[in-house]
Amino acid sequence: MSEKMIIEVEDLTVSFDGFKAVDSLNLYVEKNACHVIIGPNGAGKTTVLDLICGRTKATGGSVKFKNKELLSMREDQIVHAGVGRKFQTPSVYEDLTVSENLELSYPKGHSVFGALMFRRDDPVQTRIREIAETIFLEDQLDEKAAFLSHGQKQWLEIGMLLIQDPELLMLDEPVAGMSVAERKKTAELLNRIIQDRSVIVIEHDMGFVADIATRVTVLHQGKTLSEGSMERVQNDPKVVEVYLGH
Ligand code: ADP
Ligand code: MG
Repeated sequence: MSEKMIIEVEDLTVSFDGFKAVDSLNLYVEKNACHVIIGPNGAGKTTVLDLICGRTKATGGSVKFKNKELLSMREDQIVHAGVGRKFQTPSVYEDLTVSENLELSYPKGHSVFGALMFRRDDPVQTRIREIAETIFLEDQLDEKAAFLSHGQKQWLEIGMLLIQDPELLMLDEPVAGMSVAERKKTAELLNRIIQDRSVIVIEHDMGFVADIATRVTVLHQGKTLSEGSMERVQNDPKVVEVYLGH
């Protein structure tokens, strides 16, 4: 495996009742890159993330993350290996505060009741404050998640992944439903995250993609239609045709 890559996907295939949702896909993600997957609805984007995180079992192929084959691992082992996944809809605990949500996600099974024993010098609390600052929620630490905006909930969920210190984060349409200002801040957040991690993002908003992408893969019918810089794929006649056709 190349030293430059965080993950190498080769020949990845899944078939649902004979329908190949992902079809012999190759995908190589560099360390410290924000690799964006775009493509029309039903192209297989979400399924690719499901396969990498072990939620869906592949029919064939290989997914190597730092030389470990993920396809033979369970979902929890893959998380433990350093791959974090965020789903399309935020799944924060509405009745808990921002701080408690982050604390629950802290590894080593720190329970939320630990918050009752709050100590300023606690390394867990220090980490929670650091993460809250990163995700623009330092002033909302004691607010219940239910009162956050949709965009703030998405950031909180990214924070709940970050606190687990993954080397690779996978985000499925993180800016869907966000305001323009929130999208800009999310782009800033992702650019900060890739200073010391790698990210795979599925996204539709081309302005946002242009702000974050190191590399873009266009997926169509479970296969790579085009790949390269944002500019390159945008000017690829094959890509233009697929998008106009939809
Ligand atoms: P995208 O995220 O690009 O919109 P998906 O990966 O969700 O597309 O879906 C790709 C195709 O695979 C779709 O046709 C979808 O209906 C099908 N599909 C996804 N998951 C399953 C499943 N668990 N069983 C059957 N078909 C599925
Ligand atoms: Mg999807």
